[in-house]
Amino acid sequence: MKQYDFVIAGAGLYGATCAQILNESGKRVLVVDRRGTLAGNAYTEKMLGINVHKYGAHIFHTANKKIWEYVNRFADFNGFVNSPVANYRGDIYSLPFNMNTFKEMWGVVTPEEALNKIEEQKKDCATGEAVNLEEQAISLVGRDIYEKLIKGYTEKQWGRECKDLPAFIIKRLPVRMTYDNSYFGSQYQGVPVGGYTAMVEKMLESIEVRLNTDYLKHRKELNDMADKVIFTGPIDEFYDYQLGPLEYRTLRFEEEVMDIPNFQGNAIVNYTDRDTPWTRIIEHKWFEFGKDSSGKDILKTVITREYSEEWEPGNEPYYPINDEKNNTMYREYKKLADREKNVLFGGRLAEYRYYDMDQVVESAMKMINELLSI
Ligand code: UDP
Repeated sequence: MKQYDFVIAGAGLYGATCAQILNESGKRVLVVDRRGTLAGNAYTEKMLGINVHKYGAHIFHTANKKIWEYVNRFADFNGFVNSPVANYRGDIYSLPFNMNTFKEMWGVVTPEEALNKIEEQKKDCATGEAVNLEEQAISLVGRDIYEKLIKGYTEKQWGRECKDLPAFIIKRLPVRMTYDNSYFGSQYQGVPVGGYTAMVEKMLESIEVRLNTDYLKHRKELNDMADKVIFTGPIDEFYDYQLGPLEYRTLRFEEEVMDIPNFQGNAIVNYTDRDTPWTRIIEHKWFEFGKDSSGKDILKTVITREYSEEWEPGNEPYYPINDEKNNTMYREYKKLADREKNVLFGGRLAEYRYYDMDQVVESAMKMINELLSI
């Protein structure tokens, strides 16, 4: 009999959810991660009393009560509602696109006026289903908003022209005919009190975890230790890039501690012009209302400028480029994965999908529940 039922490669949200449910149902689980930290890209680190999101902003939001109840077993959530703003050449606009944005952009005040404006601006657009991000964006919000709030940001974020990007990316953002700046329409949202690292620590509390352990470098010995492996890393790397590397965007973060209490007055400011080199600036303290864990105002601040860059092997992969070329290559990797008897693949990197955190948890839960009911 082997030492473990499951080895899980990756201590991010997908791996942690699988590990937690399996452990609770009596399975023997080992989690390994090549990083020296837990929680994958949701990892937070405390600096000056502030939980700094070291790999970019993570705000949990879901419409699924079951998922919400599940994550609330491991953390209290603070009710933070994300309302980022856009800075276009020094002018500030509300996000997501809603009546506040339309008022700021065009001076219109009623939904009817806003709709008329959008209709007028999308007149010269092709009718029928939008085939790329540019067409999709103009048909949703008109040309002015596309030019000022979408085009530059998207081209920086993805390193590609909006015409060459899939339409679904922009459908992530709601368009509302109400004065509502909440970015996510989800019923349940927030940031875990104490940070994501503490939440994942709690999920993995009674589970053996080996950090600084790269599954792919110790594949043979780890496979020998368990009946099954759950792999949450990049699927192309698992197969040694044998069908070619999938493309990703990577992020670079520049962190700065400032001796002032308030730099930008909001957790997230997107810089939507093409010339500013960063895509957004996060001011971490505002995810927790500017207070430390004892409820006191924090006098300094930590900000992070986020830059999006083309990924090369050796960098951290963040966003999958879900265009046709890459999706086709992914499907070929998936065929190899489906033939594995003892390895299961899941999560953003192994499924090459632009997942939100709640979708990651949901998909891990589903996979494990199916596995356990067989
Ligand atoms: N987007 C934009 N302007 C903004 C914010 C987002 O054009 O100010 C577009 C951009 O193409 C981006 C996509 O909407 O990649 C999805 O944005 P979201 O905030 O969901 O991205 P994430 O937080 O996952 O990076």
